[in-house]
Amino acid sequence: MAVTKTVDPDKINFAVDEGVTLLGENRVQEYLSKKDSYDSSAEVHFIGHLQTNKVKYIADSVTMIQSVDSFKLAAEIDRQAKKHGRVMDVLIEVNIGEELSKSGIEAADMLGLAEQISELENLRLRGLMAIPPIGAEEHIYAEMRELYEELRGKALPNSLTDTLSMGMSGDYELAVKHGSTLVRIGSALFGARDYSQHK
Ligand SMILES: *Cc1c(COP(=O)(O)O)cnc(C)c1O
Repeated sequence: MAVTKTVDPDKINFAVDEGVTLLGENRVQEYLSKKDSYDSSAEVHFIGHLQTNKVKYIADSVTMIQSVDSFKLAAEIDRQAKKHGRVMDVLIEVNIGEELSKSGIEAADMLGLAEQISELENLRLRGLMAIPPIGAEEHIYAEMRELYEELRGKALPNSLTDTLSMGMSGDYELAVKHGSTLVRIGSALFGARDYSQHK
């Protein structure tokens, strides 16, 4: 995935022209201001913290929401997906380094949330997402893989567990070594981000 936050649509479309098929956005407001200029041949996943009251703005256009960290949010995505007559792919975001400031649920709560989500018919649980802390030790990545395998082993209803979204520009090699199926690459593709134009 090419993470396109703060990147201008012309650059994004250039990347799509070059063969990128999946984009990742992490802010609702910014995504809405840019999405109409995107080459429609690429899919968009939402990867940022999502407030329940903003789900309605993205439910018709993204193909996956990777940042589900509460049942309340999952239930609202289910409701909005139903409104649009679709099934939304979701990942549960796990706070694997247990940093207080980060979003995501704790590892110990993952299966409980997955079981709740599996009762929602307009969601399809595809797996897990994680943002390990910068400089995290390798065992953190291994723990994440174990959690993912645990979820796969459950084979819950309304799920197709094939995605472990882990790894960014600085740690994708380690993430892939530990079973990541989807890396989210921003600055290594587009250069350092300029936040001055997108708040
Ligand atoms: C910004 C962002 C990325 C990409 O980060 P880089 O270090 O630029 O590759 C990946 N995942 C999420 C959730 C992000 O917000």
